[in-house]
Amino acid sequence: MWKLRSAVIERTPEHIYLGFGSNLGDRYAFFERALALLKSEDFIILRISDLYETEPWGGAQGGKYLNAVIELERKGTAQDLLSVTQKIETQLGRSHESRYAPRTCDLDILLWGSETINQPDLIIPHPKQAERRFVLRPLCDLIPDMLHPVMQKTFRILFATVCDNLEVEKTGS
Ligand code: ADP
Ligand code: MG
Repeated sequence: MWKLRSAVIERTPEHIYLGFGSNLGDRYAFFERALALLKSEDFIILRISDLYETEPWGGAQGGKYLNAVIELERKGTAQDLLSVTQKIETQLGRSHESRYAPRTCDLDILLWGSETINQPDLIIPHPKQAERRFVLRPLCDLIPDMLHPVMQKTFRILFATVCDNLEVEKTGS
C-alpha cells in the first residue's frame, strides 16, 4: 500500500514549463507568435494549457492579462532558454521600463524538470509561481499531481490553498 501511494504521489515534473502573460495589444496574437518563435528556436511544444484571463497582479496598471502555461521538451540549458525567452519578449515589443507596466509578452521559466537553479538572473522553480493563481490554475491543467520540486506539494494542493484571490477565468478565444 505504501509503495502504491508513493508511486502515485511522488512524481516530479520532467519537462519544461513556461508561463505566458500578456495584457497589451492583441494578446492572442502575441501568444501565437510566442509559440511560433519557440518552435523556430527548435523547441518542441508538447502541450498547452487552457487560456485564462486575470486581473493584473499586485495592483499593476493595464487591462486583464491573458495567461497560459506551455509544456516543452527539454533542450539545451536553462540559461540558453532564458536567452531565447528574453529575445522573444523583445521581438514582441516588450519594454522593461517598469516591472509592473503593461506588457505584450512575459515568458517566465516556471519549471525545468524537477531541478532547482539559483543563479543571479535565473531562479527555478520560479519563486513567485506558488503564490499566483494565474500560474497555478493553468499548471493544474497539465501537471496537477506532480510535486513542486521545492515545496513538495502537488500543484493541485498549492492551487487549492493559495492565498491569492485574484479571479482567474477560463477564456475560449
Ligand atoms: P516577473 O516575470 O516576475 O513579473 P520580469 O519578467 O520583469 O518579472 O522579470 C525579469 C527578470 O527575472 C529577468 O531579469 C530574469 O533574469 C529574472 N528571472 C529570474 N528567474 C527567472 C525565471 N525563472 N524565468 C524568467 N525570468 C527570471
Ligand atoms: Mg517575467
